[in-house]
Amino acid sequence: MLILDEVFYRGALAILIIAFFIIRAPSVISASKTEKVTEKKPARERVLVLLNFIGMIGVPFIYILTSWLDIFTFSYLEAIRLFGIAFNIAGLALLIWVHRTLGKHWSMMLELGDEHSLITKGPYARVRHPMYTFFYIMVISTALISANLFVGVFGILTWTLLYIVRVGDEEAMLLEQFGDEYREYMQRTGRLLPKIR
Ligand code: SAH
Repeated sequence: MLILDEVFYRGALAILIIAFFIIRAPSVISASKTEKVTEKKPARERVLVLLNFIGMIGVPFIYILTSWLDIFTFSYLEAIRLFGIAFNIAGLALLIWVHRTLGKHWSMMLELGDEHSLITKGPYARVRHPMYTFFYIMVISTALISANLFVGVFGILTWTLLYIVRVGDEEAMLLEQFGDEYREYMQRTGRLLPKIR
């Protein structure tokens, strides 16, 4: 049973991606103004960040605006596409919470500012990388909303690649900076989801 038009899902996805940009914009602007002490920007990170930009924004917009990817459409229950929209909105709420908590310590690449302190409150109280949890929510919900195999697989794979390469480097950087404080923090938190006790 088709209640809602394909146009509805394309429009909803476009609005959700634009909302992501609006939520992130203030942090991107303020991060560009602050000096960073330690910057770890290996070339492979830059390539992977660019690839993710294509996977999370570029490819979805090709799906939204053209019919080029229509051959990859897989039809399934509309309830799943609607669930994708709700899941994405929940993710955006998490993103707002994360940005509010991390504040000036946020950066696109791996960096440490002067006076960098370890945040362990809000979403960071039980999870070490809630923003990366958000990115999983974003790529999975985009797959569900678009019901497009190419959009889904490309987004999930490119994000997973960046996540795998980055999370180890990031934790090594934070361990070097915060030592035992971070070691102890790692013991009581999970990487993407709260630790089950
Ligand atoms: N990995 C985190 C943050 C992503 S932003 C998350 O998924 O929520 C990346 C920057 O956040 C890194 O350059 C690092 O300096 C900083 N960072 C990561 N965890 C932090 C923490 N607990 N406290 C302070 N800064 C942190």
